[in-house]
Amino acid sequence: MLARTPLLVLGKDPAFRMKLSCDPALISWTLAFLRNCTQAAFDRNTTAILKLALQSQQALSQLLARHSIEFNHVTASKLHLYYTEEALKAAADVVALKRRHGAVQNVLTPRAAVHLEPTLESIADSLAGAVHSPLDEVGDPLRFSSELLTILRSNYGVEALFGFDVASLQTTSGGVVVTDNGGMVLDAEAAVVCLGYEAPRLLKQVGVRVPIWPMKGYSLTAKATSNTPLVSITDTARKIVFCRLGHEVRIAGLAELGEREPQTDRRRLQALAQAAQASLPGSFDPTECRGWSGMRPMTPSSAPIIGPAGAPNVFVNVGHGMLGWTLAMGSAERLADTLVAGRRGTSTGAHSAGKARRVLSGKRAVGSEAPAPR
Ligand SMILES: Cc1cc2nc3c(=O)[nH]c(=O)nc-3n(C[C@H](O)[C@H](O)[C@H](O)COP(=O)(O)OP(=O)(O)OC[C@H]3O[C@@H](n4cnc5c(N)ncnc54)[C@H](O)[C@@H]3O)c2cc1C
Repeated sequence: MLARTPLLVLGKDPAFRMKLSCDPALISWTLAFLRNCTQAAFDRNTTAILKLALQSQQALSQLLARHSIEFNHVTASKLHLYYTEEALKAAADVVALKRRHGAVQNVLTPRAAVHLEPTLESIADSLAGAVHSPLDEVGDPLRFSSELLTILRSNYGVEALFGFDVASLQTTSGGVVVTDNGGMVLDAEAAVVCLGYEAPRLLKQVGVRVPIWPMKGYSLTAKATSNTPLVSITDTARKIVFCRLGHEVRIAGLAELGEREPQTDRRRLQALAQAAQASLPGSFDPTECRGWSGMRPMTPSSAPIIGPAGAPNVFVNVGHGMLGWTLAMGSAERLADTLVAGRRGTSTGAHSAGKARRVLSGKRAVGSEAPAPR
């Protein structure tokens, strides 16, 4: 990373860019990131994230055993493609580490990769090998979230408020008070802050600092072709992922660390489409594409921060970086355990936790319908 930094800052790397600033939060984030750039820290973080991913997979399967949710869910398995012997060797070391902690992964020759996913035939000669994760699953997160919300509302009494743009968070002796930009006030026993890369701004108001920095990324969804892989593919050189969702294919990539501009830059989307065509030629129909961009909330270790925030009655579930969907269910389970433990421990002075008491006062109506999908 250090050797490549000048290239990244000058925007010369097609996949990865870095926006520098003198913001003290970026300086402290970068120092913490550098402290994580050791083999020991890499092993520790990789193992911690893997454990949370495996917990998530189990939690999702338990949820789906209880409720039927239609979201193009399939165990498609995944192939990470490597183009040099050096990169494949480094990947094999990580596979060995992950296997010791319960992951199911195998290192494959290019021929074995083509046998699994025949659409790789045209690029087989450029490959040094691949890593196959046979149990990896795919699904459409928007459909999953929307259907889950319906279940939560109808079966579990959950109330969702959309358009509640939080302006302030305050702790009180018995809980927390949250106020939105329009003056609506929500009084609650506890609050879980899960505002992605915006979390640091709000948590600062209650004296809590979390090291989170945005990393913008782009996503394209296109019509699948006869050359679209069924297995999910990660091109590790171009840092692009391909994932088939029914008759469509979703392609994600690009990393712009420190970019906060929410607008989707059409030129960057085009760059992603071009890189995807070079990576897996003919794997999607470029004439029927739609795209968006979003921010990955990065911590210096890439591991999320889940649990009590350090201010009374405030909890956090933030910093899932590139893996928020992968880690969602396990993170929720861990957070719920913390909340329940806190509730049991209230008589001994632990944080109280519970549901929102009431919207106390409001100057305007807040939507209860989820915004239309992008
Ligand atoms: C292009 C792209 C592809 C990705 N692909 C994958 C993938 O394949 N698998 C995977 O596991 N992960 C993937 N990720 C990562 C994943 O999207 C993130 O890790 C995840 O969205 C983080 O979830 P979050 O809820 O913490 O933050 P966010 O998704 O950012 O959600 C935070 C929410 O808080 C809201 N908010 C912020 N401030 C306020 C406020 N003051 N008041 C009210 N609301 C507020 C925001 O509007 C937002 O809705 C991808 C990310 C990108 C950008």
